Amino acid sequence: MAFEHTRWVWMNGKCVPWAEATVHVSAHALHYGSGVFEGIRCYQTSEGPAVFRLDAHLERFDASAHAYQMVIPYSKSDLAQAICETIAQNGFTDCYVRPISYRGSSSLNLHPRSCPVEVSILVWPWGKYLGEATERGARITISRWQKFSSQMMPTTAKACGQYLNSILAAQEASDRGFDEALLLNIDGELAEGSGENIFLVRDGKLLTNGHSDSILLGITRDCVIRIASDLGWKVETSSLSLKDLMDSDEAFFTGTAAEVVPITEVDGQRIGDGQPGPCTRTIQRIFSDVTAGRDSRYRAWLHPVAASRRTYA
Ligand code: PMP
Repeated sequence: MAFEHTRWVWMNGKCVPWAEATVHVSAHALHYGSGVFEGIRCYQTSEGPAVFRLDAHLERFDASAHAYQMVIPYSKSDLAQAICETIAQNGFTDCYVRPISYRGSSSLNLHPRSCPVEVSILVWPWGKYLGEATERGARITISRWQKFSSQMMPTTAKACGQYLNSILAAQEASDRGFDEALLLNIDGELAEGSGENIFLVRDGKLLTNGHSDSILLGITRDCVIRIASDLGWKVETSSLSLKDLMDSDEAFFTGTAAEVVPITEVDGQRIGDGQPGPCTRTIQRIFSDVTAGRDSRYRAWLHPVAASRRTYA
């Protein structure tokens, strides 16, 4: 089980033991997916554990809630402190952090107006999401499931029920022996992986799609755009076709859980020479330096756990 080392969970204002961190079966979110969440990583640095891009994640958490008319009953600074406390209380250094805000129990009317907005924070050590593919490159498939469009659901919100689309795509890819799925949007252009954004490299330029392509605006995507621009690379944001992907020299996925993962094959066809390419490797290396606090240019992206931690008696 992924959670065997987690002893404390933050629920509605306090850290409770794992066994007490339960939700009633009548909770609205269980039935209808009415919740929003974040996926954040905490990394060990030479100055202690630090939460990566905490402000950006808390901004997106709030924006996701807003898209569903939920008001999270804690400020961003309360949540920052709660996240750091939960990490420290569990004694973790490198871990994944999952804040979730969801509609609790009151009625099962579709309109959740009477259901309380509850908040929990779960932390656990989580290795590389795509495992060995992180080094060797991912063999992916174009999903038969399309990514829903922003006329169907707010694509930039990270909402629980929206992930049923990703679950279908991930199951299908795995059943067919692939590492990950890539979903096309309703226009037939590239959207994203089931839990990652996509970048292509062509003629030394970085290409990625944007808001209008039905993607979650990933925070790792934002980091990679900044890192590449700071390297003096050209970064273009525009819709991308399957042909763009197949003609690219390199391709890679980005995401908090996955980090930076080369894509080396799409439905059995190689991208470039079928090996992780030099630009992908450069971005992977710098990203890993940045998250470990070894690159002073991006220190502001790291929020030290000790800075917000209250000490428990
Ligand atoms: N797209 C989807 C559908 C995701 O679930 C994720 C992971 N949160 C991403 C993209 C990447 O976003 P981020 O870099 O903020 O983790």
